[in-house]
Amino acid sequence: MKGKIHSIETCGTVDGPGIRYIVFTQGCPLRCKYCHNPDTWKMQDGQDADTEDLIQDIVKYKSFMQFSKGGVTISGGEPFLQPEFIKDLLEKCKANNLHTAIDTSGFVSIEKADPVLDFVDLVLLDIKCYNPESFKTLTGVPLEPTLQFAQHLAKRNIPIWLRYVLVPGLTDVQEDIEQLAKFLATFPNIERLDILPFHKMGEYKWEQLGYTYELTDTLEPTQVEVNKAREIFLKYNLPVH
Ligand code: SF4
Repeated sequence: MKGKIHSIETCGTVDGPGIRYIVFTQGCPLRCKYCHNPDTWKMQDGQDADTEDLIQDIVKYKSFMQFSKGGVTISGGEPFLQPEFIKDLLEKCKANNLHTAIDTSGFVSIEKADPVLDFVDLVLLDIKCYNPESFKTLTGVPLEPTLQFAQHLAKRNIPIWLRYVLVPGLTDVQEDIEQLAKFLATFPNIERLDILPFHKMGEYKWEQLGYTYELTDTLEPTQVEVNKAREIFLKYNLPVH
């Protein structure tokens, strides 16, 4: 089956357990102000890919993946924009006994995502902010679908590694973090929670693409600020790393 991808990384180590073969799909409906990969946004900028070719390449790395208890991660962009394509690829991965993960904003149609989840062992879920207004300002889309998707994952008991990007002035409001922590504390399936300090590594790509990067003057959070957020999540017994 054919789809659009941005790129491939054969030895990723941060997007799931172990060594991972990562497929970055093309296309994203969000416009996060801190996006590191704005070159994944537009579907027409991607390259054509075929799941048959991809799996043939993936299995070449199978021994590395299995030795390290790793696997395959589909990231983006937003992978769920191409549900049939990623379902076919994940199905092929499972047929080869590979661990599968998907990295998503959760801004997805549950109806379309659900059949894909049959072949997913782990979801790396970004909840970018718990305050609906700040979420909209930060991403350009509403918060509710992401929360509904998170609840759907809980219902299906699919493990989640939750990621929270801490952006001073946008996502560091203590009350918002506290509300998110309370929401997550009710979930049985959060395996891990990572606080990712905001950084500006993708800024140059915005300039290259002719987009206006609005966070030029935003500072990276200090260790004290990261620790404050950490304490809130820990108060709710969440597995912060
Ligand atoms: S969801 Fe990811 S790829 Fe899409 S705009 Fe946000 S950070 Fe960028």
